[in-house]
Amino acid sequence: MRMAALASMMLSLLVPPTVSAGNVPTSTSATYELIPEAGLVRVTIAISVTSLIPSTTQGNVTTDYFIDNVSFAVKPDGVNFSASTAGGAATVSVQSEGEGFLSTGTVTFPGIFYGQSRSITVVYDIPGGAPRSGNPTRAGMAYANFCAFPVGVYTGDPASYQIVVPSRFTVDQFGGNQLQESTSDGKKVLSSESTPTPSDPGFYGTCIEALDAAAFSEREHISVGGIKVTTQAWPEDPAWSEAVVGTLDDTLNALEERIGPLPATQGAITLREVLGEILVGYIGSFDPELSLARVSEDALDPLVAAHELAHAWFNDTFSEEVWLSEGHAEFLGREVVASELGPCTRPDPAALASVDLSDWTFLPALPTAEDYALVSAQYDTACWVVTEVGQRVGEDAMREIIEAVFSGEIPYLGEPEAETVRGHAATWQDWLDLADERGLLPAGETDLDWLQDLLVEVGVASERGLADRADTRASYHDLLDATDPWHAPTVLRFDMARWEFDEAVEGMEVAAQIDEARDSAVELVPEVAESDTVETAYENAGTPEELAEALTVAETEEAAATEVAAALTAAGIDRNPIELIGLIGEDLDASASAAVEELVAADFDPAIANAEDTVQTAEGAALSGGLRLGGVVVAAGAIGGGAVLVRRRRRRGAETEAADTDTAATEATSTDMAEPAPAETDTSRSDTAQSDSAKSDSGGGSDD
Ligand SMILES: [Zn+2]
Repeated sequence: MRMAALASMMLSLLVPPTVSAGNVPTSTSATYELIPEAGLVRVTIAISVTSLIPSTTQGNVTTDYFIDNVSFAVKPDGVNFSASTAGGAATVSVQSEGEGFLSTGTVTFPGIFYGQSRSITVVYDIPGGAPRSGNPTRAGMAYANFCAFPVGVYTGDPASYQIVVPSRFTVDQFGGNQLQESTSDGKKVLSSESTPTPSDPGFYGTCIEALDAAAFSEREHISVGGIKVTTQAWPEDPAWSEAVVGTLDDTLNALEERIGPLPATQGAITLREVLGEILVGYIGSFDPELSLARVSEDALDPLVAAHELAHAWFNDTFSEEVWLSEGHAEFLGREVVASELGPCTRPDPAALASVDLSDWTFLPALPTAEDYALVSAQYDTACWVVTEVGQRVGEDAMREIIEAVFSGEIPYLGEPEAETVRGHAATWQDWLDLADERGLLPAGETDLDWLQDLLVEVGVASERGLADRADTRASYHDLLDATDPWHAPTVLRFDMARWEFDEAVEGMEVAAQIDEARDSAVELVPEVAESDTVETAYENAGTPEELAEALTVAETEEAAATEVAAALTAAGIDRNPIELIGLIGEDLDASASAAVEELVAADFDPAIANAEDTVQTAEGAALSGGLRLGGVVVAAGAIGGGAVLVRRRRRRGAETEAADTDTAATEATSTDMAEPAPAETDTSRSDTAQSDSAKSDSGGGSDD
């Protein structure tokens, strides 16, 4: 505000009065009205000023003071200034206060003296800027964006402001004081209090984004799989439409193909062109709750739209980790559009060193060059990590990993279907496991720790924190190799997925015992390999107790196999004539075979009983043979005793030389043995594919 003093007499003195809110009370009301048809915001400032500066008298000189102008802040890009006041002329002049500051407008009017008041109206226009222009005001037919502020002359004077838009516009007050919305005269009016308190010390006013949805240059895009995206471009910006809208169908279909169906929680998507500045340093944003992608007018590269669209999948429903969502959005964005940027590669060492992906930094409201460098290094690094994985595992596995991240599937697979291990968004640990187990290992990656080492390098994890994982996973995969083709027990797979490595180690100790017992049983009786009893108990063990029970089953099987192996040996041994007589009416092969079948069927008790019977019968053969011969009972008793001893020695020999050929066995039994019973038994054995070792025993015996 400028002041002037006018001497009412010739001898008057020019004395600058003390001006304050107290002696020149003013009130202002500024109205910012959007006029989209004219592409501008019209500002009308109603000023009321009163002079309370009394005349002063010194000697015979009286000085009267008058007020004939006031100053106030105006937008630097304001044009078409005019002023009016009742019963007189008013003029406005504007003085720039330099780059980044509001300008000073001064309205001059017929002066008012002590006790007088005057109302003045100042009007000027803020033209909307062209797309991508430096002017931050947009006043388009579909999209407007501007800030309004109170025009106070003195601090503490009443200074209200309001924003008026055509009622067809919806208004989002995104910054500063929140205004009261009402309707008046077919217009939407947002009004401040008479003297609002600034909502934040750095900014006094209100910024709005106003949309007339019907006026957008709007297009609907529906993907092959039915994903719906509506693009909303400014009708005044055909260049953006061509770059973004024109490529969107291809982008959408390619994303869907590479990622999979959109999560059910995600509704139809709107992708809207917005003022660059509103994104405060960014070039696009995605709000999963509103299903709204906002893409800057500056983003003429379709990559930005692809990236933001990808956030319909990759947001906090995908992972709590910002770097994972950003990394995936950028990786897939670059995969699906022909951007000159190409795939993300390893950032330079300085950029990499500045980044800690575990602590994602967002741009502050007024970003510096350093802020931009850091944030950009984060994006590059996140994208590089995901790209490395994507390139190694291939498109199909990447899609499988992503789908498993969404569904909460267990990384460590069992049979037949992957269980769900979580109902929340993936942690980086979940993603790491899925990428490793469902992507990298199946793709042939041999270094189990490759990805976790990479995550350490980019700050996601600490080396120490991952040491247990490395050790336990190595043991886990050793166990899988040892038990191939079995899957790991359920309890163990869940322990691994939950990073409960101590429990997993304990489980693997039990699993190793089960594996050992099983191997031993198969070695004793190869037919045991056909049985899935232990495998089922092992794989289905969902608790440590059930795993312990599986060990009991395996040990029982091993014990039974020991008995059955003895029976097979006893049945297969070569007999002397007395023993053969003793065995007339007995069928050792049949009873041993029955024991094998029972063993394979996991009827362990009958198997053991049958095996023991077989052995006992075999061992008693000489005695019963002697008894049958009658006359030589006494001698037979003595011979029988000797025969048992011989048999036992031979049995041991047979166990160690179990590799005689099948042909030898068959020939021997069919040519040398006169008794019909063993010959039949032998035939039935080869039909039922009984064990090689049993046949070998009998063959070796016959040759003697
Ligand atoms: Zn993003």
